[in-house]
Amino acid sequence: MATPGSSEYRFRGLIVLTLIAFLLFESRPAAAWGNEGHTYINQVAAEKIPASMPLFMRRAVVEIAYLGPEPDRWRSPTEFALKNSQEPDHFIDLERVSWLDPLPPGRYEFYRKLYEKRASTTDHPDDYLPERVGLQPYITMEVYGRLKAAFREYRQLRAAHKPTGAVEQAIILYAGWLGHYAGDASQPLHTTIKYNGWVGPNPNGYTTEHKIHWEFEGPYVAANIHATDFAPLVKAPERLNDPFADYIAYLKDSSAQVERVYQLEKAGGFVGKGTPEAFDFTTHRLAAGCQTLLNLWYTAWLESADPIPEHAAPPSAKAQAKAQAKIGDLAID
Ligand SMILES: [Zn+2]
Repeated sequence: MATPGSSEYRFRGLIVLTLIAFLLFESRPAAAWGNEGHTYINQVAAEKIPASMPLFMRRAVVEIAYLGPEPDRWRSPTEFALKNSQEPDHFIDLERVSWLDPLPPGRYEFYRKLYEKRASTTDHPDDYLPERVGLQPYITMEVYGRLKAAFREYRQLRAAHKPTGAVEQAIILYAGWLGHYAGDASQPLHTTIKYNGWVGPNPNGYTTEHKIHWEFEGPYVAANIHATDFAPLVKAPERLNDPFADYIAYLKDSSAQVERVYQLEKAGGFVGKGTPEAFDFTTHRLAAGCQTLLNLWYTAWLESADPIPEHAAPPSAKAQAKAQAKIGDLAID
């Protein structure tokens, strides 16, 4: 029994205080899609890995599913440096970067643009700090790059008839880790300044309380959605033309659904058993995350077969050329 004054009592009090501190200092809701949503997204994607990809991946459904929530396990204040460094990886407030099109392909180019904007802004300049804007597409492409590099190693080891057990483990880790971000981005509230309560003009009277984010992605999903509910919506993977540009388009698509989340919340869609509309919406968003993940895996696998050009142009140059082509209507592939 924990009686007042006993050491167990004090210990329990300490736990409660730690939890309160954790909640107070949490700048963003703790998880996206909660444990269940992330696990399901990774699991369903792994189950849909095509036969043209390595068999060991299709056999790693349990491991890949486990890794879905992995970056949410890095948010404890007990590992401050980790929590601090990676929390902005889970979201991007697209409203804050509407002036930056296309987004630069590298994290540090993005930082520089944001700091320039901050320096020229008088109204809430700190809103443009990279860690406030969020780095979602950058971490995604960084983990995508790790996966692709590991696939390349795997191909080379196989070609040389060398053991592949170690690189297979690396591939499973990167593939599972990548799933977290592809999943986060399908949650519309990870793409907006309205991430947890409506902000700005509100003629429709959407909730301004700070609870919609977790209510939707956490308890609602856990109580009402199973992997089998959205698995049939996920199709065979397609090779992406330009993973970064395609991923940005996917984020924008998700952000176009922000108001829908608020409409559903207003209609009681995420309370208890919710509504059929909320179920339909949520299963389609989970499927979108799962499809994007599967497409990224598939594209990384195919791209890993490409030889590395001797004088590879930096991706920024390629992106710049594409942007120019868009503006000048030039025919550049
Ligand atoms: Zn997340």
